[in-house]
Amino acid sequence: MRLWRRGCSKVLCAKLTLLAATILLVFYIRETMLSLEEAAVAQRPLHLEKAIHHLRKGMKLTKKQQGHMGHTSKWGNAEFYPDWEGIKARLAPKKFSLSWKILPQWGKGLSTAQQEEAWDLFLEFGYNVFLSNQLPYNRSIPDTRDIRCLLKTYPAQLPSLSVILIFMDEALSIIERAITSIINRTPPRLLKEIILVDDFSSHGELKARLDEKIKVYNQNYPVVLKLMRHKKRRGLAQARNTGLEAATADVVAILDAHIEVNVGWAEPILARIQEDHTVVVSPVFDNINFDTFELKKYKLAAYGFSWKLWCQYDRIPQAWIDLGDVTAPMRSPSIMGILAANRIFLEELGALDGGMLFYGGENVELSLRVWQCGGKIEILPCSRVGHLERHHKPYVMDPGILLRRNALRVAEIWMDKYKDMVYLAWNIPLQNSGIDYGDISSRKALREKLKCKTFDWYLKNIYPLLKPISNIVCYGRMKNSLDENVCLDRGPAPGDSPKMARCHEFRAQNIYYLLSGEFYVGELIAKEDIYERQYCLTDSGGKPTLELCSEAVKSRQHIYWDFQQGKSIKNRDTARCLEIRKDPSGPYRLVLENCTQQIWNIQHIGRTWATDSQ
Ligand code: UDP
Ligand code: MN
Repeated sequence: MRLWRRGCSKVLCAKLTLLAATILLVFYIRETMLSLEEAAVAQRPLHLEKAIHHLRKGMKLTKKQQGHMGHTSKWGNAEFYPDWEGIKARLAPKKFSLSWKILPQWGKGLSTAQQEEAWDLFLEFGYNVFLSNQLPYNRSIPDTRDIRCLLKTYPAQLPSLSVILIFMDEALSIIERAITSIINRTPPRLLKEIILVDDFSSHGELKARLDEKIKVYNQNYPVVLKLMRHKKRRGLAQARNTGLEAATADVVAILDAHIEVNVGWAEPILARIQEDHTVVVSPVFDNINFDTFELKKYKLAAYGFSWKLWCQYDRIPQAWIDLGDVTAPMRSPSIMGILAANRIFLEELGALDGGMLFYGGENVELSLRVWQCGGKIEILPCSRVGHLERHHKPYVMDPGILLRRNALRVAEIWMDKYKDMVYLAWNIPLQNSGIDYGDISSRKALREKLKCKTFDWYLKNIYPLLKPISNIVCYGRMKNSLDENVCLDRGPAPGDSPKMARCHEFRAQNIYYLLSGEFYVGELIAKEDIYERQYCLTDSGGKPTLELCSEAVKSRQHIYWDFQQGKSIKNRDTARCLEIRKDPSGPYRLVLENCTQQIWNIQHIGRTWATDSQ
């Protein structure tokens, strides 16, 4: 789902956007018709105009974002070209099948008009606002803590707390439920203030009506509610900073607006930060289901990320398991977004990097800074927060585009030579990528000033699961000179049948050639044991296949090849060459045969480095 799109000129980009919109509309209509046919029990015609309106709004937003980011380069222009696979995956089939799966559930006892409203709100927000509007703000949710958390005691004296809730076009009932849960589930003596930061929402109900509501809360509760508003959209890193600047308590908890804190969430946080003011903590997330609003308990995991800097759940560290105490703080390589910290410590560390635009990667940026500059990150198993994972993000067509830009910024500031891995994972050239990641000089100066450690230290000491690959010679699309329109493709996944397919920019055509002779085909994962996770191009006797590299080695299949740009690809053991062959009327097929000196090229040149230097 989180893929990226092809480069194209501005004009072409606009045309393609229009074309994609048209195709999408047709797709919408076709899907609708199919849904209508399939759903013999259909209760109402789909609200097509609304869906199209929503789509148009999305396209407008995309254009606006293009303006905001001000890219000029070849890559930059492509930044917001909606990625067809992404759109299809995110907007079309799921939504339309959902409309029939979910609405009949939501729709029990609702009139047709109400069902239409529910569907419309769902499209607009990415969650079931219709239901949220019916549910009490002070509803109870299951206590998801381990029973042993209930036996814990905390010091009578704890630091005071400012809670910061940032939002951009969230439903008012969602924000109010978050506020109510914080008021009801935080000891009043500890909760100093709740600071709301509106990152330039456009929804009418978040304007005068929200102002009114806040007045009422301030009249009825001892806690102070403050509302800050951005005059233009500045993204979540800046929104968090705005909240932080307004905060006055000892500790800040910076939360999304679509959360409900659970009982006893604050005490473990405040106690831990009181013990050690350099710890940045994360509560454990449970999931508030976007359609039913049921709370689903999530298992404990470490919070990590991929080389693209997308957040990922990782396995629990052995050291924590060995402690034998399920209530103990758990060291984590990263936060997921939500965090709590000593306010002054966080400010001295440089708050959030305001140069991280809109969405994505700001959690990894902060995490690297915390660890590399003398802090720690811990997850507190006894502090639980329900977080609503939206079905789709209404504020961006493809969050991957934003993340890619932000990821490069993080890589350039914090990752030293290992930044290559981020470029490789996103399949971006190491030189002249054309992606404008903003001015990083002040953040580099901050790194100097705080005397931060290297990324090499971070990898070795904090995140050994993330594995750099230091000997990638070349990477990207791989073409044969017989036909430059087709590229080596991993084929259907899961599956072991690579093929030649029309070139595109998705990860199925990512190829990595290593100095040691392997071709990794498909997404670059490079975590834990790389050989267990990457697929290697293999000569297993017949057609070329893809095998998990570790399996191929175990079964003595041949995964090592000789290759140089503009030369043939020859298996080191079998001496057969990877070639393509065309039947008179068919497409090119991949074959292994006696070498006829066919010529291959890979898109980008890599860089190899010695593993012991920085
Ligand atoms: N948000 C914001 N500005 C933006 C995008 C998001 O203030 O440009 C808010 C959003 O309303 C939410 C928080 O930032 O409260 C985190 O965003 P989101 O929930 O989409 O991120 P996720 O939880 O999916 O990582
Ligand atoms: Mn969120």
